[in-house]
Amino acid sequence: MLLSRFSRVSLAHLPTPLEFLPRLTRHLGGPDIYVKRDDCTGLGTGGNKTRKLEFLMAEALDKKATVVITQGAVQSNHARQTVAAACKLGLKCELIFEKRVGDATEPYLKSGNVFLDHLFGANIREVEKGTDMDAAMQTVADELSLSGETPYIIPGGGSNPIGALGYVDCALELIVQANKQNLVIDHVVHATGSAGTQAGLIVGLKAMHSGIPLLGIGVNAARTEQEEKVYKLACSTADLLGAPGLIERGDIVANCDYVGDGYGVPTKGMNDAILLLARLEGLLFDPVYSGKGLAGMIDLISSGYFQDAKNIVFVHTGGAAGLFAYRDRLSMDLDS
Ligand SMILES: *Cc1c(COP(=O)(O)O)cnc(C)c1O
Repeated sequence: MLLSRFSRVSLAHLPTPLEFLPRLTRHLGGPDIYVKRDDCTGLGTGGNKTRKLEFLMAEALDKKATVVITQGAVQSNHARQTVAAACKLGLKCELIFEKRVGDATEPYLKSGNVFLDHLFGANIREVEKGTDMDAAMQTVADELSLSGETPYIIPGGGSNPIGALGYVDCALELIVQANKQNLVIDHVVHATGSAGTQAGLIVGLKAMHSGIPLLGIGVNAARTEQEEKVYKLACSTADLLGAPGLIERGDIVANCDYVGDGYGVPTKGMNDAILLLARLEGLLFDPVYSGKGLAGMIDLISSGYFQDAKNIVFVHTGGAAGLFAYRDRLSMDLDS
């Protein structure tokens, strides 16, 4: 599995640290918890999309693109990292936002990631919830082509086989770190959405014969739908790498019990998890993805799901810029 066969541009600060969380571990009284700091990838406040963009943006440059187009929810971390990457590489960037989250507050619409998107100079369009986003991107691409641009479309979340290569790389990086630190990783956990992170990680973990199970905590779809999406992408990523048949359906595990009332809608578990990590470890997690992933991991620890595990790694996928957008929606006991 040789990732150097694929074009890549350097955008992320790598390797990201693998850190032990002593105070959280003590507080939960469970397995030792480590965090893989992919919130520290560096670009425009960092996050997991930056690894994917190293491969996606390289393909855009290979194809002589002048503008990249992508889509997401209004507070998309992926969109923010994409426009930052476009700035760094001298490309224009078009963002299409789906108004996916109802009863949006002023900060949700203007602050957090959206503020940074404007700062980076993105051209932003908004469409109604339920819009066919791939079709919407194609329409914009056609328009731009007519005006002489060469557009490159990046799917939502950067989740296609090229983007997933970024998380194959993360898995290889993690195994090297574990070996260096003499750490036996018993389980890897992270938040899963558009599937590229989980697909890439499982391909890397399996290709290395690590024997480490991977658990995605869903933030959007129901379990079967989420697992099928990850499975399909993991298989096509393995195909792209010349390892067909590497992934079995049983390798893909998603727990979608922590979504709550829907994508981007706060839950009490998420709220509590964000406060806990802030106050025990000085770490910032986000309301839409990593906070819900963390809430899932904490609850599963207390219910004994990881009973046989001594060491768990939570992949921190970033997103703290979104905290500012949720300012009014998070309940904080500021007196405690
Ligand atoms: C996009 C995102 C995820 C989910 O990653 P996918 O590859 O889309 O499954 C998790 N956490 C954060 C902060 C994200 O922005």
